[in-house]
Amino acid sequence: MKLLRFSSILLALTCFLNSILPGQEKLPNFIIIFADDLGYGDLGCFGNPTIHTPNLDQLAAEGQKWTQFYVADPVCTPSRAALMTGRYPIRNGMTSPVRVVLFPDSKGGLPPDEITIAEVLKSRNYATAAVGKWHLGHLPEFLPTQQGFDYYYGIPYSNDMDLMAGSPNYRNEANDPDFLADTRNYNVPLLENEVEVERPSDQNTITRRYVEKSVEFIKENQTHPFFLYLAHNLPHIPLFAHPEFIGTSKRGLYGDVLEEIDWGVGQIIETLKDLKLDQNTIVLFTSDNGPWLSFRTHGGSAGPLRAGKGTSFEGGQRVPTIFWGPGQISPGLISEMGSTLDVMHTFASLAGAKIPSDRKMDSYDLSPILRSGKGVSPRKQFFYWNRGELHAARSGKWKIHLKQREPVHYGKEVILSHPELFNIETDISEKHELSEMFPEKVDELLELCEQHKAHTADALPDQLAAKID
Ligand code: MG
Repeated sequence: MKLLRFSSILLALTCFLNSILPGQEKLPNFIIIFADDLGYGDLGCFGNPTIHTPNLDQLAAEGQKWTQFYVADPVCTPSRAALMTGRYPIRNGMTSPVRVVLFPDSKGGLPPDEITIAEVLKSRNYATAAVGKWHLGHLPEFLPTQQGFDYYYGIPYSNDMDLMAGSPNYRNEANDPDFLADTRNYNVPLLENEVEVERPSDQNTITRRYVEKSVEFIKENQTHPFFLYLAHNLPHIPLFAHPEFIGTSKRGLYGDVLEEIDWGVGQIIETLKDLKLDQNTIVLFTSDNGPWLSFRTHGGSAGPLRAGKGTSFEGGQRVPTIFWGPGQISPGLISEMGSTLDVMHTFASLAGAKIPSDRKMDSYDLSPILRSGKGVSPRKQFFYWNRGELHAARSGKWKIHLKQREPVHYGKEVILSHPELFNIETDISEKHELSEMFPEKVDELLELCEQHKAHTADALPDQLAAKID
């Protein structure tokens, strides 16, 4: 406790000195490590009993573990659009009732005039790189290099797309925790900037190569403020790991994959320490949505949360989140509400940049909590959009469901006879429905939903529906 207090005082003193000494300002570096379909219960520090994640556990111990942190949508494309822009995906047309995400035959992407975190940080002269899965448009005009990133290396959409004709149905194998697919069955391209450098990409080595490219980028920019967005395309199915990790975990291939991702986190932190950048770098680790439960042993775990990917239950949208930065962030367990929507405002604030003021934003500045390790989050509400419709809303401890999807096979809609109400703080698993007991809360939240819908009525048209002719 004493040590904690001392480190908080030291941190405050460093920030103060930085602010008064001319020419001493040193902009922090930012790294986002984004996992794909990683569940709330998949990390050691979030209670997983068999998957070993020592590097992430250490980051959580030295940094902040956020237990009520949300992605703005329970599937890949809209969730990423929200992280990049700080706007609910309905606003920029990135959630759709027609097509749930972007596909290899999609015509659209994140509209080029949307402003990304990378573009905001560019205003402060950051070097920027995106490594890994993009999934915000694979056509040249939508690639990361058109959205503020100096460099891109990765796959433009999900690793299960472009399935070769005649390939076995992966779903049939998902009961075998060790089943390893053939990477050649997925004709997914690997791009460097706008150029295809490998197809099909060798997914057995892809995690390792993303880490190597990330380390290279950090080394190249060690004297310059940088922003690295490392978006692993795993543990989204089909699962692949480097041969050195195959068969090494107690949780089958899914555990092997996660332990390799954790190894990569260790490599990045070691690089920061070697280069003496650890005191001036903020690392955010989180996931794009909850676990894909219909793939059984090849999907993750949402721990105590209900349901998973594709649903607006907590298991779909509450994600395990760690902020680390020993010279920047006070350690602590944070049970305040936050969202990937807030990353834009938070990073902009820490970098002395401005968030866009010419459009509606949904991004709050969490930096006071990062700095102090305490305080109340400015985020009081959260809206759960799903395929272009508002499915649920949270205000404080209360959550209302207007619509639901079937907890495992989320393609199926569930028709509710009445809105369902949960106290999400005392009932994290959404087990005890309370609408009859608190009708006034139901009315209050319904009113809140109407206000939010009115506020998003000027949304851009659907960007996901159109296919290439
Ligand atoms: Mg995903």
